[in-house]
Amino acid sequence: MTDTIERENTFTSGAYVKRPIVLVRGQGALVWDENGREYIDCVAGQGSANLGHCHPAVVQAITEQAQTLLSCTEMFYFAKRAELENRLVAAADAGIQRVFLCNSGAEAVEGALKLARYSTGRKDFVAAKRGFHGRTMGALSATWNKKYRDPFLPLVPGFRHVVYNNLEDLREAVDGNTAGVILEVVQGEGGVHPGTAEFLRGAQDICREQGALLILDEVQTGFCRTGKMFAYQHYGLQPDLVALAKSIAGGIPMGALLIGERIRPIAPAIHANTFGGNPLTSAAAVAALDAYEEERIAEKAAELGAYLMDKLRALPSPLIREVRGLGMIVGVEIKKKATPYITALGERGVLVLPAGLNVIRLLPPLVITRPQLDRVVEEIAAVLDTPAEPKETARS
Ligand code: PMP
Repeated sequence: MTDTIERENTFTSGAYVKRPIVLVRGQGALVWDENGREYIDCVAGQGSANLGHCHPAVVQAITEQAQTLLSCTEMFYFAKRAELENRLVAAADAGIQRVFLCNSGAEAVEGALKLARYSTGRKDFVAAKRGFHGRTMGALSATWNKKYRDPFLPLVPGFRHVVYNNLEDLREAVDGNTAGVILEVVQGEGGVHPGTAEFLRGAQDICREQGALLILDEVQTGFCRTGKMFAYQHYGLQPDLVALAKSIAGGIPMGALLIGERIRPIAPAIHANTFGGNPLTSAAAVAALDAYEEERIAEKAAELGAYLMDKLRALPSPLIREVRGLGMIVGVEIKKKATPYITALGERGVLVLPAGLNVIRLLPPLVITRPQLDRVVEEIAAVLDTPAEPKETARS
């Protein structure tokens, strides 16, 4: 065991399931460990490295900002923050008018829940089974998995969970007491389940009919991951609140809440935080937004995602139950527990994530190359013990 692993194991909280790899460097879709071993990184900081590791424009923006001004709370104005808010509203479109900046996905979700109650005067929320929205008390109340919830009961009252992609179930749950319906556009942690257009559009209609707000959690699907800047843009949705984080600032911690035209103006000081919109993350996020647009990252994600899913679907492994995804959030559901296969992939130089018990989840940096994706598929084929070359008959 290396010194780093030993020391972390001694002093870390114990809250994380760790892998015995000490990372020291990253570039694009690759990372290296302390022994100089190279990995293709389809974990990508749990989806926070959509632009790849150490994107040069983000690194430059951070470096310049760090040498100029690091602390500037929202008590004062700051040019990069103004630019960022402006750019986010323009990118979001769809009736989004304002932005609240924060530091993580859970915090963005908390903000959404608070503003939904504040804006409607109602108390209840409807979320989805298999949904994941974070682990703070409010976000956890919207999260479905009992394993995460049960040790921390009682949670915030007023939440119920309906079957995802089941419009009838949703219709029955939403009424005149519902402040908001919170949904992921693709359920990530819950197993990579894309929402259907019918369900998502229907959810919006039900919200409008009942005077409830549509809250979309795009923490994992935002910033080109699914082949659009935001996944709701595939379906022409007009959400009232959108939670963002992960890849917003090119890999450093930041969250944001997009606020639509139905949200009542926020009275000063009812919601705030110290670090939201700080100079470093604002500068990084502006550089990241430039890169998403200039490098046509959304189009790339759509192309690469289709390429990857075609190749995975063509694998003739009897272990594979289904390959699902949208753009570059991809799940391979297998008929066994995923963890041993995920460990085996790591040993072969490919880092991937689980999603639920039996899904191998891939969140590659969107700057990954086709040869790198070929290698990922080859290694998945190898650990599932199938030939890497797909059978022609297995093609869809
Ligand atoms: N919502 C979704 C959809 C997520 O995937 C996550 C993180 N996996 C969160 C919220 C929570 O984000 P954070 O870990 O930054 O609090």
